[in-house]
Amino acid sequence: MGKLDGRVVIVTGAARGQGEQEARLFRAEGAEVVLADVLDDQGEALAKEIGARYVHLDVGEEEQWRSAVATAREAYGRVDGLVNNAGILRFNSLVDTPLDEFMQVVRVNQVGCFLGIRTVAPVMEDGGTIVNTASYTALAGMAAVGAYAATKHAILGLTRVAALELARRGIRVNAVCPGAVDTAMSNPARLDPDADPRETAEALDELYRGLVPLGRIGRPEEVARLALFLTCDDSSYVTGQPFVIDGGWLAGVSIV
Ligand code: NAD
Repeated sequence: MGKLDGRVVIVTGAARGQGEQEARLFRAEGAEVVLADVLDDQGEALAKEIGARYVHLDVGEEEQWRSAVATAREAYGRVDGLVNNAGILRFNSLVDTPLDEFMQVVRVNQVGCFLGIRTVAPVMEDGGTIVNTASYTALAGMAAVGAYAATKHAILGLTRVAALELARRGIRVNAVCPGAVDTAMSNPARLDPDADPRETAEALDELYRGLVPLGRIGRPEEVARLALFLTCDDSSYVTGQPFVIDGGWLAGVSIV
């Protein structure tokens, strides 16, 4: 018996990184999975490998959400879960951030999450689940990622309001708040075909050894396991909450 037997889950940003690991784990736990992304070749190939369905979905586009959800329902007859995982990161100090760049981050991270909830929740089965991907930077500031941090704070607001509004249908809405995770977002070397992933992971662990109490960067598989917990019945009495997964980074500072 899988933890998600009989359930149909849409995962955005599923072509790589955390979304990929969520899609893989959910499929292994018995769910029918609809992978959504703008990286069509990677998404198609992954869907084929794990026996899932791929849809092109730019999460900032309302019409594309409608068509992605229609595809999911045509293929599997229902939708029980949504993981709003797609996201982008831009580095700039606030005073140097052009408005266009700020709005680009808002469009994907914040509007994408809003459109996902608004499009999927009305057709979702009662008792369904939504997991929004926030961040460590939803709960703390981080210099040089102001636009990103603002959208991740906003995602917690959306999570709490959606949880309140959808609770009467038994739909639970929670957020994951990862610290640094070894994906292309925190480790661009992952996009370099000549880089050895083990070497870059070791270099990152070294970098985070002094920063993070558990002494290493997180793995996308670890975030996927938290998303699974929030999507399956193991979390049946949990809604409206942010879940930090950061190796203890947010716990505080250590002077020894
Ligand atoms: P990633 O860059 O590997 O994956 C992001 C995915 O989102 C990619 O597949 C990308 O194509 C997709 N995407 C980007 N724009 C999109 C759009 N407009 N429509 C649909 N898909 C789009 O990075 P990741 O770490 O796997 O990121 C997943 C989520 O986790 C993001 O929301 C990110 O902000 C969040 N997060 C990441 C970290 C980290 O350190 N990696 C930490 C905290 C939170």
